Order: sequence, then C-alpha cells, then structure tokens
Amino acid sequence: MNPFEFAQQQIRRAAGAMGLKEDTLNVMLTPRREVHASIPVMMDDGSQRIFSAYRVQHNNARGPHKGGIRYHQDVDIEEVRALATWMTLKTATVGIPLGGGKGGIQLNPKELSEGELERLTRGFTRVMADVIGPDKDVPAPDVNTGPREMGWISDEYGKITGDTSGAVITGKAVADGGSEGRGEATARGGFIVMETLKERLGIPDGAAIAIQGFGNAGRTFARLASVAGYKIVAVSDSRGAIYSTDGLDVAAVEVHKDETRGVSGAPGSEAIDDVLTVDCDVLVPAALENALHGDNAGNVKAKVLLELANGPVTPDGDAIFEQNGVQVIPDILANAGGVTVSGFEWEQNLKGEHWTAEEVDQKLQVIMKDASEAMWKEHEALNIPLRVSAQVVALRRIEEAMSK
Ligand code: NAD
Repeated sequence: MNPFEFAQQQIRRAAGAMGLKEDTLNVMLTPRREVHASIPVMMDDGSQRIFSAYRVQHNNARGPHKGGIRYHQDVDIEEVRALATWMTLKTATVGIPLGGGKGGIQLNPKELSEGELERLTRGFTRVMADVIGPDKDVPAPDVNTGPREMGWISDEYGKITGDTSGAVITGKAVADGGSEGRGEATARGGFIVMETLKERLGIPDGAAIAIQGFGNAGRTFARLASVAGYKIVAVSDSRGAIYSTDGLDVAAVEVHKDETRGVSGAPGSEAIDDVLTVDCDVLVPAALENALHGDNAGNVKAKVLLELANGPVTPDGDAIFEQNGVQVIPDILANAGGVTVSGFEWEQNLKGEHWTAEEVDQKLQVIMKDASEAMWKEHEALNIPLRVSAQVVALRRIEEAMSK
C-alpha cells in the first residue's frame, strides 16, 4: 500500500465514524488537479538534466490550496497526492482559511550545487506559474527546502507576473517578507499540543522523549522541549542515532550536527541502532512517512506518539498502537503549526503587514489549543482514536464549506 492509499483508508474510517456524505467522501478521496512537469536544468558542467516535478491541488473548498514543496530522491506522485490530502485535512483541523496541496521534485539535493538548485527551483516556478498564486495555490517549504528556495520562487514569480507581494509562497526569510516565527512554527505547534493534552495523556513532568529526525521539525522540537525541562533521551538523523539515559545536551548535539552534518558522535552520547524502540514516555517521529508499521510498532515502548512528520505511521501500525493503548497525536494536528504560521505569513503579505514574534506566538497558541480541544472533544464523544477524531473535526468543516 502506498501513502495515498493510507490517506484514503484513514479518511474512509473517519467518514464512517461521523456519517460523512458520500459525495463529500468521494471528493476527499480524489485530488482536484495534478500537474506533472519535466524541468530541464543546465548543470554546472554544461550538460542538461531533466527532473520530474509534481504539484497536486487536492481541495480548495475552504480557501486556496496550501502545502509545501519537497526535494527528495523518493518523491513520486502517490506520495505527493497523500501529502496534499493530509494538507486539506490539516488546514481544516486548525480552522485556517486554506485548502490542501503539495509539490515535489524527484532529486537528491545533496548531489546538486547551489546554482543548479536555483536554476531548478526557478524552472519549477516558471512551469507552475499559471496554477499557483496568492488566491489559487500557495506553496511552502517541506523536506530539503527552506527560506532560500522560497525566496527564489517568490522572486521568479514576481518577475513573471508582476506580483511582488510575496503572498504566492510562505516560509520566506523575514528579509524577503517572511513571518516571524515560521522557522520554529511546526515544532512549536507540536509542543503546544503536547502541553495542552499532557495531563489527559498521562505525560509526566520531565518526561523522557525520543525523536526520529533532526531537521527543521525534530531539532527545533528537541530544543523547545529540553528548555522546558523534558529529557531528550534519543535523537536520530539519516546517518545514525544517539542515546543518553540522563538526557542529551541538545545544544551540544546541535553544534555537533552543524559541524559534522550528523548527530552521531555528539558529546555525552552513545550510538544506538534504533531510536523508535528506546525506553521513553513520548516518541516523536519527525523524519519521513511509513517509519512505524506492522513490523515495528509492537516494539515501541512510548505510551504517546507525537507525529511531527507527515504520515509516519501506517494503518497496520495504527492498529497495533490502538491494541497496545498507545495514544497517537496525529500529524494533521501535531505538525499543523507550520501551515498555521504559513497562513499568518500569507495574510501579512496580502495586507502589507508585519506582525511581531509575540503576536505570532500568541495567535499560534490560541489556534493550536483550540484545535487540540476540538479533537479531544470528538475523541471523548465518539470514543475513537485521536487520529480519527482530528479527521472528524476536519471533515465536518470541509463538508460545511462544500455545502455552501
Ligand atoms: P528536514 O529535511 O529539515 O529534516 C528531516 C530529518 O529527517 C533530517 O534530519 C534527516 O536526516 C532525517 N531523516 C531522514 N531519513 C531518516 C531516517 N530514515 N531515520 C532518521 N532520520 C531520518 O525536514 P523537516 O522540515 O524537519 O520535515 C520532517 C517531517 O516533518 C516531514 O515529514 C515533513 O513533511 C514534516 N513537516 C515539516 C514541516 C516544516 O515546517 N518543516 C511542517 C509540517 C510537517
């Protein structure tokens, strides 16, 4: 089963729990539009390479399509469809006036120079310029893309269309019209959700946390949680995993990662094989999808999972967690802080405003807390797992928008 089939299976389950209309269900199972493109790029050595790129616009009933652009060698259309579907659910879960979409280019960014990446990103913008735009589809960063790529897209789009408001793309550097707080927003949002539900989920003070992935989401979460007194016992990245019973010195791991490009060998840590099955209270998958599945979910010792990654648990993994009483705080809520502040950035660009970091944080707190409470309410009312409850919250809002 591919990630898009996972996403469809999750939606069918939530639709059944709430009695979603069949017409709405069918629309939710089918992306509205897909663009498949080939982007020729002049490489530094004078040769030409052609890259496959995708943009999937899943649903815009609640507002313009919204979702990141991923650069990864495993990107394919099924993955982009799944991610676009989750974006529709995510923007609805947090109740921001945006829909769902996602993009991706199949490449290993480590193999390209900065100049090659820039030519590729500008080529992607030219090919997508007709279908993206502040009132149509507003992309953002995802795995292996960030403020640099967003700045190129904003600049190229401005040259093509004359719209230099920056509202076509979010996740820009503050100097390029980005929002305060966007870089930390995904992790901060997840942290607010964890704090809001902490007692109800039985998470102890100073709980032990393990994190898979030490990029934007995982690393920032490690920092926020350790400053707040949690014990980060294990972290990993694509090159290795490290552990410390007493808790890692997160600041030192960050320095080590910056210097060596990996977490392995950070001071005060020992190497481990698998971060997902270490002894801890909260496990935070913050790398890629399908990390936890039928073959390894039964070995997880944590009682709570906070999904900072998109789609890190497969449906058969979910079934095992349900059986074992492991509560999974789902991606469409846990990592929705990123798109929420992206929404703030879009709004600021449209209005020509710049909000302070304090304003952004305050607004994010309110939205993430309200969404956590809404999910919990459905969890109790319908006696369903948290993933299904968050989807029920989202599907009710999407159905209402579609009926107007
Ligand atoms: P990133 O590229 O900054 O970091 C990804 C991290 O995962 C890197 O440290 C990488 O080494 C690690 N990784 C990759 N494969 C791994 C493996 N097999 N084992 C352990 N670590 C591995 O990406 P990111 O922006 O932090 O995104 C991570 C996840 O969070 C993705 O699923 C993404 O869709 C999701 N997400 C990110 C944002 C955001 O604002 N950045 C928002 C919502 C969701």
